Amino acid sequence: MKKVGVLALQGDFAAHGAAVERAGASPVYVLDRQQFKEIDGLILPGGESTTMLKLLHIDGLYESLREFGEKKPVFGTCAGAILMAKEVSNPTQQSFGMMDIAVERNAYGRQIDSRVVDIEPGDEFGKRTAPGKLEAVFIRAPIIRDTRHGVKVLAEYAGDPVLIEQGRHLAATFHPELTQDDRVHRLFLAKL
Ligand code: GLN
Repeated sequence: MKKVGVLALQGDFAAHGAAVERAGASPVYVLDRQQFKEIDGLILPGGESTTMLKLLHIDGLYESLREFGEKKPVFGTCAGAILMAKEVSNPTQQSFGMMDIAVERNAYGRQIDSRVVDIEPGDEFGKRTAPGKLEAVFIRAPIIRDTRHGVKVLAEYAGDPVLIEQGRHLAATFHPELTQDDRVHRLFLAKL
């Protein structure tokens, strides 16, 4: 069985662990850089990206994670997607640059900063998993403002990309781990 690391410093890592199990792999809660050796892929959960960044700089986790992403698949949701981006605004902060995208944090504004919507993913998503709408939970989500060469958009909401892929990496601005639909996690497992 494939082992999927879930960065467990902060945020909704437990929900990701449960989704990984439902999708047919075994979760490893990563808190120590030694654990990168035993996992086939890594999930960066939702939470607060600034806090995660601070915690990542303790004990050299940041550098080990960056190196892991050079060889193995990484899947980021919401704050995790912010950490994977090449450019972060509102405000700017350090990021891994694993995906050639520019993201704006908390971009849906204060009034309607969280919502649950049904989105219609592109045909390719249905072919690679199973067809049908996706329930997308947005919580103080970023908006992907720019996608550059090599980035494939798998689903959009209100004209903006919300599920994207670049090579071995995957990112979502919503939270598939908070629904019972495990197709997005299965899509990631298929990349390991
Ligand atoms: N607003 C958070 C951030 O900027 C992300 C929110 C989330 O992960 N649900 O890091």
